Amino acid sequence: MEAAGRRVMMAEAEAWMDQAVSMAKEALENGEVPVGCLMVYNNEIIGKGKNEVNETKNATRHAEMVAIDQVIDWCHRHKKDLKEVFAHTVLYVTVEPCIMCAAALRMMKIQLVVYGCQNERFGGCGSVLNISSATLMDTGEPFQCIAGYRSEEAVEMLKTFYRQENPNAPKSKVRKKEYSK
Ligand SMILES: [Zn+2]
Repeated sequence: MEAAGRRVMMAEAEAWMDQAVSMAKEALENGEVPVGCLMVYNNEIIGKGKNEVNETKNATRHAEMVAIDQVIDWCHRHKKDLKEVFAHTVLYVTVEPCIMCAAALRMMKIQLVVYGCQNERFGGCGSVLNISSATLMDTGEPFQCIAGYRSEEAVEMLKTFYRQENPNAPKSKVRKKEYSK
């Protein structure tokens, strides 16, 4: 029974992750760090987000923070208890949550995060710090992570993004020339 349950879980996770990958692609097309995510509660998407840092000029608008705000809105609209909803919500995200987002997820008391690739620069679920499972008395609760879903695509998108951000890219050279006039 447990094995069957696990297969269903994997098939579901793949399907949700497809949508998170589409969100990440949109972010990449908008010149944002390509991260996309969904918050799923009772088989329903109640929040989703993609990175919006450049668009909003606000360094905290990571995909997960956008999605958390949507879940809070959803709870208000449906008169649901935030604690109860977050405790039964699964986050599907293309990249390991960063330190900031991992702390936010602890405080919202999310219990399960399914993610794609590692976040080697800022990861808060093991890559840089292990906020997800650390013993932190006054910072919510630890959560479980399942990694590796659609990780190759997630890594490819990050690589594409950071190539564009290269300071030697043609765009910056044009800018330098303008300054030297
Ligand atoms: Zn983050």
